[in-house]
Amino acid sequence: MPIKILDPQVVSRIAAGEVVERPASVVKELVENSLDAGSSQISIETRGGGLGLIRVTDNGVGIPAGEVELAFSRYATSKIRDFEDLESISSLGFRGEALPSIAAVAQVDIVTCAAGESIGSYLTVEGSAAITHKSQGRSQGTTVTVRNLFRKVPARLKFLKSLATENSRIANVVSQYALAFPEVRFTLFAEGRAVLRTPGSGRLIDSVTQVYGLEVAQNMLEVGDEGGKWESGASISSPQVVGMIGLPSVSRSNRAYLSFFVNRRWINSRLLSWAVEEAYHGLLMTGKHPIAIINISLPPGEVDINIHPTKTEVKFQNEHQVFGSVQKTVRRALIEQAPTPKMEEVATAYVSPSASGPLLRAVPEGEDSPVTSLPVASQPLVTSLPVLRVLGQLSRSYIIAEGPEGLYLIDQHAAHERILFEKIKYQRSQSEIEVQGLLEPVMFEVNPRQGEVLKSHCEDLAKFGFSIEPFGNRTYLIRAVPALLHKKDWAGMLRELLDALAGENRGDWAESLAIAMACHGAVRAGQVLNDDEMHELIRQLEQADIPQTCPHGRPTMVHLGSEQLKREFGRS
Ligand code: ADP
Ligand code: MG
Repeated sequence: MPIKILDPQVVSRIAAGEVVERPASVVKELVENSLDAGSSQISIETRGGGLGLIRVTDNGVGIPAGEVELAFSRYATSKIRDFEDLESISSLGFRGEALPSIAAVAQVDIVTCAAGESIGSYLTVEGSAAITHKSQGRSQGTTVTVRNLFRKVPARLKFLKSLATENSRIANVVSQYALAFPEVRFTLFAEGRAVLRTPGSGRLIDSVTQVYGLEVAQNMLEVGDEGGKWESGASISSPQVVGMIGLPSVSRSNRAYLSFFVNRRWINSRLLSWAVEEAYHGLLMTGKHPIAIINISLPPGEVDINIHPTKTEVKFQNEHQVFGSVQKTVRRALIEQAPTPKMEEVATAYVSPSASGPLLRAVPEGEDSPVTSLPVASQPLVTSLPVLRVLGQLSRSYIIAEGPEGLYLIDQHAAHERILFEKIKYQRSQSEIEVQGLLEPVMFEVNPRQGEVLKSHCEDLAKFGFSIEPFGNRTYLIRAVPALLHKKDWAGMLRELLDALAGENRGDWAESLAIAMACHGAVRAGQVLNDDEMHELIRQLEQADIPQTCPHGRPTMVHLGSEQLKREFGRS
């Protein structure tokens, strides 16, 4: 339908608001417009973290010459007309706000040619007024170029993170839509480099390969009855859940690999994350999260997308039903298709003791050790540790030791984390990180988001002993590693480090890196330690500056004083 300005009554019903928060929001809005225009090819180019330039080119239906200027008016949309349309939105956009909001904070130009028109139009807009409007040749489709974003809004600039962070957010937005629309060929160029290319084959697995790499793609299961095919929501009566999920063996340490789409709109949903994690119950180590790409098709009337300005949150009419469908469909795929996990992997899962809760909770369920019923002492922490005598290992997770002042239960993982953390920090402060060259370089693949982090932190990682060099498209070689860490799966560890560094609020990346290295380099719960290893660990812990907590602040030990023991046993 033609572009028209919405009636004020309709406007009052939409959750309008600021949509241009950062460069990635501009990319999201423009890509959504290209998708709504039925494009089969969308290419995105950015410079200066999106602040310098964002250009989105598509081969969609284009905008008729007579409507181009109108497209930049507030509440001008071709996608809905009235209240009823609001109840059954099948497009990604519907508020007519993106183009005018972007033009208000940047210089925008658009070249577009509508289906059936012989010549296209060129329009430049700045602020709220069109500056130039003339005819220009172009094949069918639209190119929108956004320059100098926020230059006139210095306050907004201040809130933005580094160029690398903005690029990584942009890469994430494009990756998500590439997953949601496997039939569309996406290309993303950032700062002149190709960051992502999908083939547009219509097969989700091809998009997964490009976004997450071959290793992940080879460990994915199809979910739902349609064999991984996306369906549109219009014609179905109950929620239909389709997508792909990772085998438990390729789990991740955060939730960044959970992607949800409702009628192919990318959304955030705690409810759906929870449903998927429920389905993996008992299959993943605690602290690990699955990889999943899930589309839920629903009749548009059963989901309200109009509750949040950026449309990234939705409200389901029947939350229970949606939760149940997702949980059951994912669980079924796991049970029917995933190889049975080894008992050991599950039983020895590491449970991180919370700072306030008792450490002893971490004993695996079902192992009815008498120690689990001991009360946990809430002793004030002493700064240095006395000399301890190792008595043995409990549940392959704790070292039991005796000191002059009673019994100590030491969490082997947390304690080793503390030791490594202090060593890494010390060696780093002396600029003498011990490096160990690998006999054979280890090849590893990163996703676009990790790639951006790696590029910006490559030198930082080198200072910590990692020698990494690019090896073709999104593949890198690890040539040397810090000698302190005894680890086999360097690729997995580095990917986790990159994910940790990509997270929010990583102001002090050096500290974060040291913490992440210590965490991933430390012995795990569930690992059998021999006497020598236990002695060595305790000896090193005795020398630590702050032996009582791991670098995350969780306790490394529980202490039962002699006095308390006497009290517990009723002796005076
Ligand atoms: P909305 O997407 O909510 O309708 P926008 O401000 O994003 O609002 O876009 C306004 C209108 O401009 C759209 O309704 C659409 O008709 C037209 N439009 C914008 N981008 C494109 C594009 N890439 N291809 C075709 N039409 C577009
Ligand atoms: Mg739009």
